[in-house]
Amino acid sequence: MSNRTFTMIKPDATSKGYTGAILDQIIKEGYSVKAMKWTKLTTEQAGLFYDIHRERPFFGELVNFMSSGPIVAAILEKENAVEDFRTLIGATNPANAAEGTIRKNFAASIGENAVHGSDSDENAQIEGDFFFSKLERF
Ligand code: ATP
Ligand code: MG
Repeated sequence: MSNRTFTMIKPDATSKGYTGAILDQIIKEGYSVKAMKWTKLTTEQAGLFYDIHRERPFFGELVNFMSSGPIVAAILEKENAVEDFRTLIGATNPANAAEGTIRKNFAASIGENAVHGSDSDENAQIEGDFFFSKLERF
């Protein structure tokens, strides 16, 4: 079990001004930020990040959305980070997300669902490496 996960605050949430409130909720839950950047993905970069979904019917929509505006990428540390962070963000579809979760609080739809959270320790490592060099993390 690793103690790190990777997250993105997605373009819907940054454009609605939810960045501060989402970071506040994450930090209050006990995560410490080991790396962070405000950036914007090209469609090609968004496609590479979500490469696992390339054959899914929603891939084009996902890539267009994820490159439509700024995102915040971060590496977070806490005990049991991957699993606990998935609980904190809630179900992919905010209509099914539990009360108090980030997606329940801030997401509008299954496509525009405010945040990303890694689904395994292995993917947390790969996704953190996608955004951050050794100089940008500690
Ligand atoms: P994420 O990987 O962003 O944390 P997730 O792990 O909860 O989300 P995935 O199954 O990995 O869900 O899907 C990746 C993203 O693709 C979702 O967060 C959502 O933005 C989008 N997506 C998934 N299913 C659909 C769908 N049926 N229609 C539109 N978009 C979808
Ligand atoms: Mg996922």
